[in-house]
Amino acid sequence: MYTCGPTVYDYAHIGNFRAFIFEDLLKRWLKHRGFKVTHVMNLTDVDDKTIKGSQSQHIPLKQYTDFYAKAFFEDAAALNIEPADVYPRATEHVPEMVILIETLVAKGFAYKGDDGSIYFAINKFPEYGKLSKIQVHDLKAGARVRVDEYAKEEAQDFALWKAWTPEDGDVYWETELAKGRPGWHIECSAMSMKYLGETFDIHCGGVDNMFPHHENEIAQSEAATGKPFVRYWLHNEHLLVEGKKMAKRFGNYYTFRDLQKKGCDPMAIRYLLLSTHYRQQFNFTFEGLEAAKSAVERLSNVMRRLQDANGKSGGEKIGQLINNVEKCFGDAMDDDLNVSVALASLFDFVRDVNNLLDTNAISKKEAIQILSLLTAFNEVLGVVAEVEKKESLPKEAEELIAKREEARKTKDWKTADALRQQLKAMGVIVEDTQQGVRWKIEKP
Ligand SMILES: [Zn+2]
Repeated sequence: MYTCGPTVYDYAHIGNFRAFIFEDLLKRWLKHRGFKVTHVMNLTDVDDKTIKGSQSQHIPLKQYTDFYAKAFFEDAAALNIEPADVYPRATEHVPEMVILIETLVAKGFAYKGDDGSIYFAINKFPEYGKLSKIQVHDLKAGARVRVDEYAKEEAQDFALWKAWTPEDGDVYWETELAKGRPGWHIECSAMSMKYLGETFDIHCGGVDNMFPHHENEIAQSEAATGKPFVRYWLHNEHLLVEGKKMAKRFGNYYTFRDLQKKGCDPMAIRYLLLSTHYRQQFNFTFEGLEAAKSAVERLSNVMRRLQDANGKSGGEKIGQLINNVEKCFGDAMDDDLNVSVALASLFDFVRDVNNLLDTNAISKKEAIQILSLLTAFNEVLGVVAEVEKKESLPKEAEELIAKREEARKTKDWKTADALRQQLKAMGVIVEDTQQGVRWKIEKP
């Protein structure tokens, strides 16, 4: 899975984090379903914006981008986004980009313009436009665009390698192509294929990246390799803030750090950003953030209550409730990450469990089973930080496991066995492995 990472020229805003959190949810769900996920997220640390930013602060490009890269990792950790397996930086992959561009030139898909830059000839790639469904037949012959970002109406030959100009200052590489720097689009083609192969499964990004960025990635990669580039593209929709497009001039532009300064809870922000289906436009409001906060609290409260539960058995009803929520939550998430339906079924379940807890109708064993299920859901959602680790056993069970460990150390097998039985009665199965003691929860 390849996800377009941040351009490290500023703090990431909540629209950026909507994309990163949706991608995190996708990855966690795939893992929950047993897939092994290799996740690559690039850092764009050389492009039009980073160069401009470093120049305006009069510091070297690397110093400038390192600062924002560090900030990005801090923010992502605060939002409980699982780290990618690899974070390739564009500036560290220029040789790979040069080879890719040379291949495109050799195959006739790219040419040198009068300005010394190398351009991709989109009329040589008949499938150009297949992702964003744009029509390019009106294209003026030889029309070229050198900037990284442009609109659909401006579709034309785009720069793979930008010959040095005085505006680039000291940002350039001396290569066989020319003295210059890579265009933004070639960076992602080179880095994704290096780490994931010429054809890989999933590529994500914001819908605004579909054109030109992803369209150009497809053209460059497939023209070079002759193979399909990506099997599945997933794009998340835009974010609005209080009903309007987020923009500094509207006064509704927020980085994650702006919200932190206002005292907003990162887990509530995470919950809010993931709670709407990724292909729907999402309206961020402070009212919504309050509601998200109480949803997270509801979930963490019921988990805390279950840790102390020790009532009479709820009988067959418990197993039915568990099976039902497992199926509803799972079916919804399997349906293109229909997270709002999944969350609705989860909170119906939480309400039912709270009702049973109110009447003391959940035994210790049942509480452990329910807790284990909620922990698994929370590993997907990642919104209740303190119980995300697998250790969600009640204190009592943890104490018994520790006691049993002591007994085994002194080779007191009789006590160890008795403790194992006691744990089993609570629904906790203990196994002794070469790596130490493992436990799992008995299924209802
Ligand atoms: Zn990209």
